[in-house]
Amino acid sequence: MKKLLVCLLAITMSVGLLACGGSNSEDLIVGTNAEFPPFEYIGDNGEPDGFDIALIKAIGEKIGRNVVIENLEFSSLVASIGTKIDVAIAGMTVTEERKLTVDFSDPYYEAVQYVIIPDGSSISAMADLEGLTIGVQLGTTGDFIVEDIAGATASQYQKAVDAVNDLVNGRVDCVIIDRNPALVFADKFAGQVVALPGSQFGFDAEFYAIAMPKGDTELANKINQALKDLKTDGTFDKLVSQYIEE
Ligand code: GLN
Repeated sequence: MKKLLVCLLAITMSVGLLACGGSNSEDLIVGTNAEFPPFEYIGDNGEPDGFDIALIKAIGEKIGRNVVIENLEFSSLVASIGTKIDVAIAGMTVTEERKLTVDFSDPYYEAVQYVIIPDGSSISAMADLEGLTIGVQLGTTGDFIVEDIAGATASQYQKAVDAVNDLVNGRVDCVIIDRNPALVFADKFAGQVVALPGSQFGFDAEFYAIAMPKGDTELANKINQALKDLKTDGTFDKLVSQYIEE
């Protein structure tokens, strides 16, 4: 009888442990917005893919967490951290405003805004952007830049590709978006649009980082250490050459 009880107790305890899951087997729910190639997009298999997705999966492996990707609207990501999702990776620029709500990992990629113009357009400097209707993805740094351009109106889209489609259709005068997606779209719509470097317009460098819950230093330290390790062991550079046309 005593043996049976000890046995039952052992079974109950191990089931309990399994149910709670040690922090090692816990899912890491990662928010992204799969509309931002080459960092995140829907792959041929219908699942989110891209540099950021591969990077966060590699980080998950290093820290022993199973990565589950949630594809959300970009503008909802910051507010979803700590409720719907644990962290967000979405080519997200570190900004002072976002830092009021979330913490950021160490930066992993340098970016800058580019201006996509119709092929043959004479737009070439900041003064040319004044008073224009400018396509942007809602809630992005491109969207915030338009607020500071005299007389310009932001035409906001949930999906960056819809902004570029409207540029091709003549519904907006140009599109402001990060360098790498701008290059991808310029390639995709070759002959119709051209992507101009932000340096021509005086745009500042931006830095992508993983957004995390405020004050979770344990998670932050783990993610930052994993990022460092992936840079040292060559995985990071391998992913850059696999996904990003630099
Ligand atoms: N880097 C820009 C931002 O953080 C755009 C990101 C995106 O559209 N995924 O606002």
